[in-house]
Order: sequence, then C-alpha cells, then structure tokens
Amino acid sequence: MSSQASSAAQSTLIEIKNFIDGRYVASSANKTFDNIDPVTGEVFAIVHEATEQDVDAAVNAAADAYRGEWGRLTVDARVNLLYKVADRINERFDEFLEAECRDTGKPYSLARHIDIPRGAANFKIFADVIRNVPTEAFRMETPDGAGALNYGVRLPKGVIAVISPWNLPLLLMTWKVGPALACGNTVVVKPSEETPSTTTLLGEVMNEVGMPAGVFNVINGFGTDSTGEYLTRHPGIDAITFTGETVTGTAIMKNAAVGIRDVSFELGGKNAGLVFADCDMEQALEGTARSVFANCGQVCLGTERVYVERSIFDEFVAGLKARAEGMTIGIPSDEATGMGPMVSRQQREKVLSYYDRARELGATIITGGGIPDMPPAVADGFWVEPTIWTGLPEDSPIIKEEIFGPCCHIQPFDTEDEAIRLANDTRYGLATAIWTTNASRAHRVAEKIEVGITWVNCWFLRDLRTSFGGAKQSGIGREGGVHSLEFYTELRNVCLKL
Ligand code: NAD
Repeated sequence: MSSQASSAAQSTLIEIKNFIDGRYVASSANKTFDNIDPVTGEVFAIVHEATEQDVDAAVNAAADAYRGEWGRLTVDARVNLLYKVADRINERFDEFLEAECRDTGKPYSLARHIDIPRGAANFKIFADVIRNVPTEAFRMETPDGAGALNYGVRLPKGVIAVISPWNLPLLLMTWKVGPALACGNTVVVKPSEETPSTTTLLGEVMNEVGMPAGVFNVINGFGTDSTGEYLTRHPGIDAITFTGETVTGTAIMKNAAVGIRDVSFELGGKNAGLVFADCDMEQALEGTARSVFANCGQVCLGTERVYVERSIFDEFVAGLKARAEGMTIGIPSDEATGMGPMVSRQQREKVLSYYDRARELGATIITGGGIPDMPPAVADGFWVEPTIWTGLPEDSPIIKEEIFGPCCHIQPFDTEDEAIRLANDTRYGLATAIWTTNASRAHRVAEKIEVGITWVNCWFLRDLRTSFGGAKQSGIGREGGVHSLEFYTELRNVCLKL
C-alpha cells in the first residue's frame, strides 16, 4: 500500500485512511482504532474512523459524482472503466493478496484461488451483464386501433450504501460494488472494522484507472453508534446493500425504513449437510470437510449441522475426524497451511464459548474442542482447533445458533423425510449440501429444502450468472447475474401511444 497507507509517525504502523472524493483523508475528529494481525495478536495498522461529518462528505461526494461526470458517461465508457479496474487488481494481485491475508489470517493458498481473482472478476462479470441485458417491450391494443408501445428502461438508483463483513472482505464487497457501478450508481462502502485494507486499497486502483472522483468512497469504522449507523441513517443514501449477521440486518432495516429505502440483505446461516447412504463416501467426506473447515469455518455457506444416514454414520464420523485431525494449522504465507487463525480475538472467544458450552451440555467430542499448540512466535494468535461433536439434542444452542467457526455437529437420521425435516428446522435458509448418487432423490430433496442454494455432490460451486441469496432469516432479495439488476436499478415503464 502506498498513498493510502503511509507510515505513522514514530512507529512502523501502517495508517489506513478513508477514501472520499478520490482522496485519502484522515478522520475529521482524528479518531483512530487498531487493526490487529490475527496470527500474532499484535497491532499492525491504525485505521481512521469516519465521523458523522466524514460520512456526510462521502455521501455528498457520491451524490455529486452521480449527478455529474459519472452520470453522463455512456454505458460503454462505464463498462470499459470497470474492465480496467479488474485488470488493475490483477496487476496488483500480490498486494491485494498480502493485505487480505494479513487482515483475515486466511491462507494465501485460499485467497489466491478465491478471494482475489473473484474480487477482480466481479467487475467484469457485471460489466458484461449490463452490456447485454435486454429490456422488455409490449405492444398493446387500444380502442382506436392504433395501439401503444410499452417498454422498460432500467436506470440507476443513485447513491448505494455498501456494508460488508470480514470473512471474505474483497470478494463480498466487490460482489456489491461491481453491479452497483455497472448499473450507473455511485457507492459509499463501509468495510468491516476488522478488515479495512483491501477495500481501502481499491481506492488507489480507482484513481489509477481514471474513475471519476466520488464514484467509489470508503469510510472506515464500526457499526452501532458509529460509521455504519451514520451511513444507513443518512438521507442521501438511496438504497442499502448489506452482508453480515441477521441481527445487524434487523438494525439496518429500521434505519432503511426511514425514507423507504430499498435493502438487499445477505445474512447468517446454520446450514445443513445431508449425507445419504447411497453417496460416494470419499466425495461426501471431502466436500463436507471443506464446507466445515475452509476459511477456519468463517464462511456463511459453511456446514455446521451434518445429518448422516444411520447405516453409514460411524464410517462417516471416523472419516471426518481423520480429515479434521489431518488439517495443517499454520501461518497464512506457508503454502502447506490448510487453516489459519480466526479473524479476531472476539470471534475466537465466541467460538471457544460454544466449545465450552458443548462440553457442558454433554456433547461427545469426536475431535478438537480447544486451542492448538502453536510455536511461541505466534502463540498469541487467534487459533482454534477444528472440532466435531455428536450426541446433542436438536434444540441445543450448538445446533440452533450460528457459531461461524471450524466446527460441526453430526446426527444420524433414518428416512429421507426425517432428513428434510431436520434440515428445515431452523430460522435460517441460506444453503444445504446433499450427498447422494440417486438423481431422483437429489431433485426431490432439493425442492423441499427451504434455502437459497442447494448443492448436490459439491459445495461452494456456482456459476456467477445465477441468483444468490437466502430464504427465511438468511436474507432479502437475490444478487448475481441479471438478478442484481433488480436491486441496483429502478425499472421504469414508458408507454408510447402510437
Ligand atoms: P456483522 O453483522 O457483525 O458486521 C457486518 C458489517 O456491518 C460490518 O461492516 C459492521 O461494522 C457493520 N455493522 C454492524 N452493526 C451495524 C449497524 N448497526 N449499522 C450499520 N452497520 C453495522 O457481521 P460480521 O461478523 O462482519 O460477519 C459475519 C456474519 O456475516 C455471519 O452471520 C455470516 O453468516 C454473515 N455472512 C453472510 C453472507 C451471505 O452471503 N449470506 C456472507 C458472508 C457473511
């Protein structure tokens, strides 16, 4: 990081500023907070917290850009700029990779294949969508016989507030910023306080490709009574797109109600994996292990409840245990690392509290349940063991609440109907993975599971042109491909009398 992250005086700490109207600016109240390395537990950067005044400046800059230069660009010119953004992220790939892994503690091997390439691709994908989107037209009859032509026009909404979480910072933020800009809106982005680096670094990219000032703004800070709330309350915001916890979504929705602003929400989950006796056992074990332990279990689509047909239960539990115990826990830059630390001390405490609770509730601990032994240099990092439990009743908090750690509970089932009932017995509805070689069963079960996405014999695989979102309390609306247009544009009808 260069211009946005100069060295703070008298220390080697990186300084992360807000990006407003094309410039990196300090907090107007000179308020800063620490950014902590999850590997060592040490502060490595200070972040400028955006005050209400800073948020106001960012929203005004976005509104001016929307009404000004950005609003006057042709779709082709806009789309070409977004292609350049993607190319520039790829040119600066290693900087984004290092910044993302330092903020999150995730392995380079993971971020290199998922976070950074997808973060870049999100700009191209939505540029292509907007270039190729058809509009609807209906010719209607009229009593005078001349008729009328109705046609749809999609126009941007204005200034979009983008609020993103810490688990896949660049990927989830660009998943919103890409379509928002492609559709002609401008954005004010509030990344998670835990992971401000790559979002703020994107400001440099925007300037390098010649993005007009004010189109992309970043304000750093916290949620409640801080930057996030100032943003969602600001009357200059026309719509809010948010990814994070369901409880946060509820708070944001209250602010969105003032002024009847549209929301798109991607929220929490408590996803089930259903493993039938007719599955390919190796495939089911490999896929389930990934869905439980990838990114240290900090994936909204991850599996925390596994239901296994009774005849293969013991074999499956033993197989998943072996995979958990075979995980290489280590520092992000080590290519052998399969699992890094958790993102923050707070998140680790939350996960460890569930580990304690499971023990108190009498769970059978198949493996893990504590903190791994780590070398002294990184012993203060936010490490946890991959953990598997069995034997808890279905109403246990371990099975009902989203933990967001590298852990799962495994329960046997006897019939297909029982498996469906168990999978649906949750307030969430984000994702399910079904493991079976019976295609009829796969269709039958997929239609009955109340979620936004069902995987059959795979996990975390999705054509980006398809819809993404949650059912029940896991979200509102769908994003992805042309579905993103529903949120990022206003569809207007023009009726022309012939
Ligand atoms: P979080 O809700 O705590 O925070 C998300 C963002 O909201 C952060 O930027 C935070 O500062 C901000 N925020 C918090 N309170 C706010 C408020 N009152 N007003 C405005 N902004 C506020 O979530 P998190 O801990 O960062 O992320 C983990 C959660 O995100 C999990 O529940 C996970 O399931 C969910 N998630 C969902 C998806 C999905 O696609 N459905 C994807 C990733 C993560």
